Amino acid sequence: MFDLIVKNANLPDGRTGIDIAVTNGTIAAVEPGITAEARETIDATGRLVSPPFCDPHFHMDATLSLGLPRMNRSGTLLEGIALWGELRPMLTREALVERALRYCDLAVTQGLLNIRTHVDTSDPRLVTVEAMLEVKERVAPYITLQTVAFPQDGYFRAPEGVKSLERALDMGVDIVGGIPHFERTMEDGRASVQALCRIAADRGLPVDMHCDETDDPLSRHVETLAAETIRHGLQGRVAGSHLTSMHSMDNYYVSKLIPLMAEARMNVIPNPLINIMLQGRHDTYPKRRGMTQVKELIAAGLNVSFGHDCVMDPWYSMGSGDMLEVGHMAIHVAQMAGLDEKAAIFRALTENSAVTMGLEGYGLSKGCKGDLVVLQARAPAEALRLKSVKLAVVKGGKVIARTPAREGALFLDGRPERVDPATGFAPEY
Ligand SMILES: [Zn+2]
Repeated sequence: MFDLIVKNANLPDGRTGIDIAVTNGTIAAVEPGITAEARETIDATGRLVSPPFCDPHFHMDATLSLGLPRMNRSGTLLEGIALWGELRPMLTREALVERALRYCDLAVTQGLLNIRTHVDTSDPRLVTVEAMLEVKERVAPYITLQTVAFPQDGYFRAPEGVKSLERALDMGVDIVGGIPHFERTMEDGRASVQALCRIAADRGLPVDMHCDETDDPLSRHVETLAAETIRHGLQGRVAGSHLTSMHSMDNYYVSKLIPLMAEARMNVIPNPLINIMLQGRHDTYPKRRGMTQVKELIAAGLNVSFGHDCVMDPWYSMGSGDMLEVGHMAIHVAQMAGLDEKAAIFRALTENSAVTMGLEGYGLSKGCKGDLVVLQARAPAEALRLKSVKLAVVKGGKVIARTPAREGALFLDGRPERVDPATGFAPEY
């Protein structure tokens, strides 16, 4: 007797007509025609069943704070940082926890069960850190939440930046962050990358830095990050988030940089929604897109995963917790609409992110955790096209969220009464 069987599923790798059985929180079988009994059965009816979505780059301490204490008038990254600085002294642990829990509720309905959040360590009160560590514990039964010590106002630039980051790590934050392009000088930026990688090596922690989130083609901290990764033997444990300056860099320089990043086995985390919204703000026309070189980095074998970054906060007034929306934007901005390219984008929202985050037991194979999502789509490309509804979200073999299928009722003579956007319109891709 299994706890759950999902019948007749299409899998992201193209297999169809597959049943998935879960017992004791773990996937026990993935094969066609499982006949055993189960406490609960979901008939996927040929729809896509995926491992849960992962967001490797988010700001849970800022989410849902839109309008507090005012709106971002210029819409720029720098005004967003200034605005967050105005809000910061007013933050309370209770309000931070309440907003984060509300976001996590939304995330669960979107099948988003693994999130890495940066946590601002600039205010020496560290109320953000206290709050996010509380949230991490409270959501642990349904969301794996990782925390990054993030010196938003600069590791060297903020008055107590160095000390506060160390204290946050002492309190139990999982990952060392940074923001080299926001230090006072290029030299300080480089020194911050060196110091932070040293801390990570000494403490045995991963690194995930906001790096070169600028249109300045000479912002080259990613080079230092890759070199320090290799120097300290941190290969595979370091993520470079954003890397938007790569969009504007000289091609010859990039031809040397990408192999260096590959040597460092750097995990790359572009944030398509935020990059297309915030970059190129000082351009007239032509206006740069600003996202890093996704196609080229994937082609060079780097592990690329996409982050949502922001939902309704000082930097971004939109967002829905739906990683398919992130992938949808990535397809457009990176111009990756080919079938194989869409499959690569879907992997960047699921299995690649799991690699970035170092998740264990992730996937839809026997022995993996019994976590999965049933989508109102037949294949990954269709899920991305429609930003599909997550019909059922399963954690450890238990259904923890359901959303009704999107379907229109039609009142036209001689036409169908119901329209399901995911069937009958085109081939599966
Ligand atoms: Zn960020």
